[in-house]
Amino acid sequence: MTRSPVWHPFTQHGLEEPIPLVSHAEGAVLNTADGRRVIDAISSWWVTTHGHCHPRIVAAIAEQAQRLDQLIFAGWTHDPAEQLARDLVDLFGLPYAFFSDSGSTAVEVALKMALGFWANRGEPRHRIIVMEHSYHGDTIGAMSVGARGVFNQSYAPLLFDVATVPFPAGGREQATLDALEALCRKGDAAAFIVEPLVLGAGGMLVYPATILAQMHAICAKHGVLFIADEVMTGWGRTGTLAACEQAGFTPDLMCLAKGLTGGSMPLAVTMASAAIYEAHWSKDRAQMFYHSSSYTANPIACAAANANLAVWRDEPVMERIAALAQRQAEGLAMLAQVPGITNPRQCGTIIAVDYVGGGEGYLSGLGPKLSAFFRTRDLLLRPLGNTTYVMPPYCIEAGDLARVHQAMAEAAELP
Ligand SMILES: *Cc1c(COP(=O)(O)O)cnc(C)c1O
Repeated sequence: MTRSPVWHPFTQHGLEEPIPLVSHAEGAVLNTADGRRVIDAISSWWVTTHGHCHPRIVAAIAEQAQRLDQLIFAGWTHDPAEQLARDLVDLFGLPYAFFSDSGSTAVEVALKMALGFWANRGEPRHRIIVMEHSYHGDTIGAMSVGARGVFNQSYAPLLFDVATVPFPAGGREQATLDALEALCRKGDAAAFIVEPLVLGAGGMLVYPATILAQMHAICAKHGVLFIADEVMTGWGRTGTLAACEQAGFTPDLMCLAKGLTGGSMPLAVTMASAAIYEAHWSKDRAQMFYHSSSYTANPIACAAANANLAVWRDEPVMERIAALAQRQAEGLAMLAQVPGITNPRQCGTIIAVDYVGGGEGYLSGLGPKLSAFFRTRDLLLRPLGNTTYVMPPYCIEAGDLARVHQAMAEAAELP
């Protein structure tokens, strides 16, 4: 076979096994060209919510593609974006929607809006506060506010300085709150950016809603803008539509992507407060928000998102989420008893465990062994070092989910 010219993301082409070719998918199942039925236990990297190729979303994409495929969004508009923005405002309680095309971009936009807010008020502030172990994307700005490590050490000299609070690990929550309070009090902080309730790529680390609420209260007291990066946690993953709901507040900026189109098309949005929009509203062109990308608010992607919202309205999505969370809890209780498995944790539809041995961290030798094992079982699971998590589409069948849990238990024999 000739070597493929495709350069894959987060893939060491010098090491990886042959790359599976997927021909079609439905629900929580991927079908490979060589005839295997693979369970997508990580929602194709956390994006697929209602299952692959949901008929209603597919139909909306086909219909919109024939009507209006793409439109410059600076100074022009279209119905799919107008309708989507109105519905997002109703759902998330923030009055303005700025569209882009990936989670990383939604984060870049939020950071630029926060800095623009302070600059346009004539009170420039540039310090961004972040949380230890965070992940916010792979562009330079998003990497700057994320954890530093092997992923970005080659680019480290280009990343901007941030102030970091510790992760609120069980029993050490007060240290996080104290650090945040001290940093906010300095008066130079523009914003605090955080993944609410679950730090995803950092290892599926969970912390309680009460701490999230207290972190928000500290920022609000000091006027530091609160950016909720709900790119992964949004769209029901944590048991509620947005994770922030569980802490009972509306942030100043909210980043949404992944599940925004049900996982069918690339689209992202940064939702903003009135104060942030108004800080950019002026008769002075120098104060406008200077950001765009070619495909901002692409009409086909917006139509897919509108169909996703219709699915949320018309199908029993919250019931499905509750049932999945319950089955995940049962699987986790079983896994917690398995020797070699430690640190079982859950937030809504997401469960994670760590395997003992094989070294810690993303480059733990155990990760590739686990991946290879799950692949032989026709499961798409992608361990983060010695952490394995399950984050399936909400439509996954009970028998398929049980197979995932069973394989995770058997994998404890590997190290
Ligand atoms: C995936 C992710 C991003 C980046 O989104 P992309 O669409 O991959 O650019 C940002 N923040 C969080 C919390 C994520 O999980």
